[in-house]
Amino acid sequence: MTETTPSAPNAPHTPAISFEFFPPKTDEMERSLWETISRLAPLAPKFVSVTYGAGGSTRERTHSTITRILAETSLTPAAHLTCVDAPRADVDDVVARYHEAGVRHIVALRGDPTSGIGGVYAPHPQGYKSSADLVASIKRRHGDIEVTVSAYPEKHPESASFEADLDMLKAKVDAGATRAITQFFFDNDLYFRYLDRVRARGIEIPIVPGILPVQNFKQTANFAKRAGASMPAWLASKFDGLDDDPETRRLVAAAVAAGQVQKLAKHGVDTFHFYTMNRADLVFAISHLLGIRPQGAQKAA
Ligand code: FAD
Repeated sequence: MTETTPSAPNAPHTPAISFEFFPPKTDEMERSLWETISRLAPLAPKFVSVTYGAGGSTRERTHSTITRILAETSLTPAAHLTCVDAPRADVDDVVARYHEAGVRHIVALRGDPTSGIGGVYAPHPQGYKSSADLVASIKRRHGDIEVTVSAYPEKHPESASFEADLDMLKAKVDAGATRAITQFFFDNDLYFRYLDRVRARGIEIPIVPGILPVQNFKQTANFAKRAGASMPAWLASKFDGLDDDPETRRLVAAAVAAGQVQKLAKHGVDTFHFYTMNRADLVFAISHLLGIRPQGAQKAA
């Protein structure tokens, strides 16, 4: 496990951060995730979230990752949960198990259609019809669970319009969500324009930018295409010619993400969510550039 030297407390206006992990598939991936968690825990994130595989495919692995975080660290875990392809009773059972284990934060999502991103979504016949229904049910059954939801600065690819997209966000907030994390984006103007729209719609919850350090440009570009997130030409040109040069790619990725968060911070953004892809180095460096220093008291795995 990596040792981190504790340093002075963060300055008063240092941004708050959170980290997202995915549940590991193999023992090797599990070891690597826990090294990552050990390295990042001293940065004292507000919470760390663990994703829920497509269609609930990682239900048990998400649960065991979350419960291990609770048992072995002083981090606050947030469990992602989707309602696609599952009867309400199953989803309620997952939430009840989390509540019993001591989890008090859920990232509540609809999930992608079984046929994959871009397919047609149909709710399970006995399932929740939408993410807003899921949020309402979690809050009704467990008022002490904090619920975070998704937000889409470039609108969700299935949304007919920005208005329809904002209607869904509003419904999720009315159902009890108190924070939204955005899909990743690379052009900060998209985030600020979206924030203007959200506020104009009367939605006041924090809209936390989701920051994706580009660990692998080709993979990111493929995923962005399916998720309806744009990849600016300037970004492609920064990674041009680096396919066989992972070292330089990592340095470029750190510089790009650091530039993005520092510009957002300069314009008043004070909370960031990092899609870590279960790797610590880039996210640790970017957090450092935001002024975040390891805090001594954190129990780090
Ligand atoms: P919703 O808020 O339910 O919908 C988004 C938009 O799509 C709405 O604004 C609405 O306009 C439109 N829409 C929704 N349903 C319909 C419909 N039936 N017809 C027409 N338009 C519709 N996926 C996972 O599988 N596991 C995860 O752990 C996970 N974590 C995520 C975390 C974040 C921060 C984000 C941004 C996404 C995550 N996703 C995850 C992806 C998400 O499940 C997909 O984007 C999914 O397609 C939409 O679910 P949602 O809850 O984000 O969207």
